This record gives sequence, structure tokens and C-alpha cells, in this order.
Amino acid sequence: MKLHEYQSKELLARYGVPVPAGDVTSDPIEAKAIAERLGGKVVVKAQVLMGGRGKAGGVKLFDTADDAAAFAKDLIGKRLISKQNPTGMVVEKILIAETVDIAKEFYVAVLLDRNIQKSIVMISAEGGMEIEEVAETNPGAIVKVAIDPAWGLSDFQLRKAIKDANIPKEARNQMVSMIKNLVRAYEAADAEMVEINPCALTPEGKLIAADAKVSIDDNSLFRHKDYQATSSDSAEDPIEAEANRRGIAYVKLGGEIGIIGNGAGLVMQSLDEITAAGGTPANFLDVGGGAKEDRVRSCVELILMDPAVKGLFINIFGGITRVDEVAKGVLAAFATLDTDIPVVARIEGTAVEEGRKILAGSRIVPAETVQEGAKKIVELARG
Ligand code: GDP
Ligand code: MN
Repeated sequence: MKLHEYQSKELLARYGVPVPAGDVTSDPIEAKAIAERLGGKVVVKAQVLMGGRGKAGGVKLFDTADDAAAFAKDLIGKRLISKQNPTGMVVEKILIAETVDIAKEFYVAVLLDRNIQKSIVMISAEGGMEIEEVAETNPGAIVKVAIDPAWGLSDFQLRKAIKDANIPKEARNQMVSMIKNLVRAYEAADAEMVEINPCALTPEGKLIAADAKVSIDDNSLFRHKDYQATSSDSAEDPIEAEANRRGIAYVKLGGEIGIIGNGAGLVMQSLDEITAAGGTPANFLDVGGGAKEDRVRSCVELILMDPAVKGLFINIFGGITRVDEVAKGVLAAFATLDTDIPVVARIEGTAVEEGRKILAGSRIVPAETVQEGAKKIVELARG
């Protein structure tokens, strides 16, 4: 789960990372009051979970509270579009923070490196721009240091990394303590990533987080009830948000065939076969182990909320999941939904005979194999 910038900064501040004073709001009148309270010299920032907000026009500096308030009024409710997010996102909340005078911009992050199975610290003196861009154009400018799971990160390792990254002398001590605090926040929040970009050095020589991004491991959300409550707000797609609320793993892909499977393996196989048959997967959804009628029904409803879906492919191998429960759930969903999209089901495993009986004579087209099913649904969806 991605946290908004204001939530990320709140977390980092709790662990001693310096952040600019500021407040979040969705109300233009309150925005003006906040800007006045901060003295008028403020930065107004859209709280949308997408990269490149600055370039998308979602971050702007002002000298007076009136100007900031006028921009805030325009920004709330506006759709921002960036290179990273071409469909864009609507701005609901804005952060108003005191402007940081920036002499130099750096990059620091702590994240999980799956290749080496450790968390790492990443440091670069090339802050401000997207780190992916730095990685492409000047990979040598990014220094990485692994955090030993047992021993943690020692000061000398950290000092060496900071020096290797060419962080100027006057900022080094501050950066050591900032990164140590960042690591504490990362661990306490069960984060997958915490990133400060830009990590700003002011003309007075103070290091401060001008932007912050945090992503929390979804599997640990049960330990973070405060974030859990807002997790559906942070999904980037409205159907994904609804799936979060229903506790269903759903991924939007953008093609035309909706896919329901049980277990990641079957779902991935379905994606491959649909693609091999010349189709494009619209989304996929894992009903999970032991799904009962209600859950299956809920899954079918979710898939069909996507207007791009022209056909539904169901690929279930019953183990703990009983195929007759799946069949009942699918029929229950179509009994209430007003749709005539084609559906192909390949079902096997526990209680398959009962399941086939339930589906017999219904609008659900049976398939013997995954390949056959994928071909059928792609044809029918074109049909
Ligand atoms: P992002 O585009 O989503 O990463 O949003 P950022 O918060 O990083 O803002 C984009 C850019 O705006 C930064 O790289 C800075 O150059 C600039 N910026 C943001 N906040 C401030 C600030 O307080 N002071 C100054 N001078 N520039 C800022
Ligand atoms: Mn940024």
C-alpha cells in the first residue's frame, strides 16, 4: 500500500527525520487559512499516488497566501496526467507546506532488494529528478549499501556510502542520522520502500525531506490498523479499491478478457493461454483457496465492473475449493447482473461432477482444457 506524501512525512517525522511544517486539506477555504498560518511562502502539492506530480502541474511554489489559495482552489478536483500515469488521477487532498529554500537536491531511499534478499540504502547526489532516469543516464551516481539482517547498518558503512555518493561534506553528518532514522521508520512501518526525493540541502546547510514516498507491505497491514482504514483510498484504480474493500486480490491489465482463477499459478497460466490465443487479458482475479458461493459471486461482479471486459474466462482447479460452490457463485452473479458477455469455464477437481451439473444448460460455455477454453473465449468475445 502506497502512502500519500503527507502520511509519509508524518511517519518520517515521528522517527526524527526533518520535514517542512505543513497541513493537508480538501477544502479551498481551509487551504487559505493554512497558507496564511505558514506565512504565505508555501508550496501547494497535490496528494495523488502517482510519480511526476511536479511535471504534471501538481506542485507549485508561492510567495503569498492569496496566490496559494487561488491555485489550491483550481487544483482540488482537477485530474492530473503524467508520463507515468496517462489516465491520470483526480486530486482530492492537497498538502500545503512551508517552502524549503533548496541549494542542492539529493536522493535517499531504503528499500527491499529482492535479488539479494536484503533491504538496501540507496543514496545519490543527483536528487530532484526521477531515480529511474538517473539509473539510466548516470548509474554510477547511485550508491547502494545492503543492511545486514542480523547486524543492521554500521556507521562506517553508511559514512562510506554517503562519501562515495559525493554528498558534500557539510551535509554528511546530518545524512548519517537522517538515514538511520529512515531505516527505523522503514522497519517500524513494515515498509517495502521509503524514499526522500528531493532530500534538500538549504543555503543555511540544513538537510530536510522536501518530498517523501512510503510503501507499506500489504501483508503486514493487519499490524497497522491506522493505514488499513485508508488502504482502499490509495488504490490507483476504482475497481482495485473496491476489491481491496472486499479483500480480493485483483489486478487491472487493460485488455478485453476478464480472468478468474484460483491460485496464482492457474491465473498466470490463463493469462498466457489467452495471450497465445490472440486475446488480451483485461484483469485477473484470484478467488483464493476454499472460496464459497458468495465470494465467487463477488469476484464475478468485480470483473464485470470493468467496462472494457468483453468476455470472462473462468479457470478453476478445485482442491480445498469445491467446484460446485464456484458454479453456484457464478450463476448467482449472472442471475442479478444485466449483461450478455460470453463466459467460458474450465473446471476440474473437487466436486467437479456436481459443478458440471449445476452449469449444464446455463449460458456458461464449458471447456475441457485451459487452451481450449482460452481459444473459445477469445473467439466468442470477438464474436
Ligand atoms: P514529485 O514530482 O511527485 O516527485 O513531487 P516533489 O515533491 O518532489 O516536487 C517536484 C519538484 O518541485 C522537486 O523536485 C523540487 O524541485 C520542487 N519542490 C518541491 N517542494 C519544494 C520546496 O519546498 N521548495 C523548492 N524550492 N522546490 C520544491
Ligand atoms: Mn519527488
